[in-house]
Amino acid sequence: MNRTHKVAILGSTGSIGRSALEVLQSHRERFELTCITCHQQLELFEKQCIEHQPALAIVTDELSPSTRRWLDGSDPKRMRRAAGSQAMIQAISGPEVDIVIAAIVGVAGLESSLAAVQNGKRLALANKESLVVAGQLLLASAKESRAEIIPVDSEHCAIFQALQCDRPGVIDPHTSVHEAATGSIYPSVINASESVEKIILTASGGPLRDWPLEDLENATIQDALAHPTWSMGRKITVDSATMMNKALEVIEAHWLFGLEAEKIQVVIHPQSIIHSMVEFRDGSVIAQLSPPDMRLPIQFALTYPERTSGPAKRMDWSTSQALSWYPVDPDRYPALELGFEVTRRGGTCGAVLNAANEAAVELFLLGHIRLTDIAKICRSVLQHHNFAPTPNLNELLEQDRWARHEVMRWNRSLC
Ligand code: NDP
Ligand code: MG
Repeated sequence: MNRTHKVAILGSTGSIGRSALEVLQSHRERFELTCITCHQQLELFEKQCIEHQPALAIVTDELSPSTRRWLDGSDPKRMRRAAGSQAMIQAISGPEVDIVIAAIVGVAGLESSLAAVQNGKRLALANKESLVVAGQLLLASAKESRAEIIPVDSEHCAIFQALQCDRPGVIDPHTSVHEAATGSIYPSVINASESVEKIILTASGGPLRDWPLEDLENATIQDALAHPTWSMGRKITVDSATMMNKALEVIEAHWLFGLEAEKIQVVIHPQSIIHSMVEFRDGSVIAQLSPPDMRLPIQFALTYPERTSGPAKRMDWSTSQALSWYPVDPDRYPALELGFEVTRRGGTCGAVLNAANEAAVELFLLGHIRLTDIAKICRSVLQHHNFAPTPNLNELLEQDRWARHEVMRWNRSLC
């Protein structure tokens, strides 16, 4: 890279957003922070504005009275203030942004992910929900605009790196993730499957991994949020406890790497050091290892195809470290199978599963339902939805609304 790249961080107040700021801070010569966004954490956001001095700061929750007050604040240096998701879409669509770090949680991140690829930006994608809900639309858009989608999710970053062992020669910095991973643009299915036997996504198993099965239904919010190896936002931490996170990641891998459900396997790896693996046809397995630290995949998505030093923790080879893995028990993690089912069926299933899960996790975090209800609710909503094989964006969003409504109905029936 021989010029400064302009970067937008969407969701800078979140766990990924804060890590992204640290990465950019240590690469000021390569990247310029032109835009950050937050939703409700205004105090933290104001501090970030002062410390990082983006050209534009946007609060997406435009209706809140505190946002109105924030808009009237005095600006550190040249910074501009704006509010609302349309201001965010406009900002990332224009020439002031080359790379979009998509770190908003949930389907709320979909519109901006789509805008980034429609406008040919590099999309450093943490917001897996965008692919789960609208993978087909996102990839079709990226193909048309030749936008790059580089995964930030640690497992997919690991697979993206491992797949490059399969490519002869040097990687062209202007190829898309599919080209880089498989040697052709689209569809990557055929090329990936020629030498890739399967990919193996690793899962920590979450905080309840060793609990007796019969105790799971009594898990409290605090129990579910006590992740053993990763420090993340609340929604994804609950998803890790149920393993819905891995279900979403199966769907994400299907879209990113063009692999069918049968070529995706999940194993529990409690240490979270092996971030995922690719098994090739000849039996070779290529894995990517590093301590659990999201600053590494974030940096990789920014600097790819180059590698640079950075702030992420490194392996300590002077101490002993045992690595282990074992199969997933479907009785403990019934949510995982939903990811495979949705991958096989496609269409509207991803939007419905994602919305049902988002709504159910919210109910769990409010103390209205048990952790073990989440997978049951999602299965039921998925089974009863009005399936369409090739939905457009409006139909997907309609299914999203319907699924959330169904979860609320379920909740009322429990009260
Ligand atoms: P957090 O909950 O920590 O942060 C979410 C961010 O999104 C915050 O900046 C929040 O703003 C913003 N936000 C919330 N709701 C909205 C909305 N309706 N509109 C616009 N912005 C909104 O989440 P994480 O950082 O943990 O996760 C972000 C994404 O990255 C998720 O999709 C997750 O699955 C993915 N991911 C996360 C990993 C991790 O280690 N955390 C690992 C791999 C993937 P505010 O706080 O100001 O309200
Ligand atoms: Mg992950």
